[in-house]
Amino acid sequence: MERRSFVKLGAIGLAASIVKPGFASEDSVANPVLSDYKGGAKMISTWSHGLEANRAGWEKLKSGGTSLDAVEAGARQTESDVKNRSVGIGGMPDREGHVTLDACIMDWESNCGSVGYLEGIAHPISVAKHIMQNTPHVMIVGAGAKQYALKHGFETIKTPLPEVKKEWEKWKKEQAAIAKKPAINHENHDTIGLLAIDEAGRISGACTTSGWAYKLPGRLGDSPIIGSGLFVDQEVGGAVATGLGESIIRIAGSHTVVELMRQGKSPEQACKETVERLIRKHKDMTGLQCAFIAINTKGEVGGFSVYNGFNYALKTTTQDELIDTPFDRKW
Ligand code: ASP
Repeated sequence: MERRSFVKLGAIGLAASIVKPGFASEDSVANPVLSDYKGGAKMISTWSHGLEANRAGWEKLKSGGTSLDAVEAGARQTESDVKNRSVGIGGMPDREGHVTLDACIMDWESNCGSVGYLEGIAHPISVAKHIMQNTPHVMIVGAGAKQYALKHGFETIKTPLPEVKKEWEKWKKEQAAIAKKPAINHENHDTIGLLAIDEAGRISGACTTSGWAYKLPGRLGDSPIIGSGLFVDQEVGGAVATGLGESIIRIAGSHTVVELMRQGKSPEQACKETVERLIRKHKDMTGLQCAFIAINTKGEVGGFSVYNGFNYALKTTTQDELIDTPFDRKW
């Protein structure tokens, strides 16, 4: 087929899909395949701020909300936390002082939405969900994402926060070298990635971050990229990632975890093999922390990290706790 007619066909397809039904909605019916799920609702989220996020998500799950409602509510909780330096309003800026936010969301019907390089909007996760549910697209970034958010009335914020700006000014004075990879640890990198399974067995995931502190302007990490920062396939389960996004993208991390679960691995084993693959692809792992958490359709969960020190929060009807994951090596 000639490129021109192919492009034309593509345009017709796009126009058709704008009117085509089939985007997710909050009252989507349970996938019939899942009607025998008995594992109960469950939520897992990266790092200790996952505890509060899970509690916010749980409010949705216990009042009959879907896993999609739960992961969005959890992500919003962390996005509002002014003390969090890696997500939302309290996030660290890029090297020019702009806080640019990335987020994505995915549900059990493989609907997904994403925003990247979004500045001045309080809840990128909800913009991502809105894109997923109301446009034929998956990913909108930069000025277009901002325009989209404003047009649809999303809450605006002023960033960086004054105390964050001070830190950035100090950093600028110290002339820290951007080319030198900073250590990725709990202090400077702690994206929140969330996965939930609801009473009906439906799995959804979300991921939201301000990314690598003092990144080059325009940089996107793994977090807004479906398949890298997050992946859900209701035939198998879901996974989310945290850590150095450039490394996670290199192995399409979250998708890899899900595919390993498809081959029969447990969530923990799938995360472990993904971490091992990531390590194989890097000559120098000095300070390079990455971690994955995952859930399968039986409601089993697990995680694994490159270095010690990573944990995730687990919430069920009986549990509300932080779990240290197994790891490949010690700092
Ligand atoms: N993965 C995120 C990024 O590279 C950061 C993080 O997880 O801490 O932007």
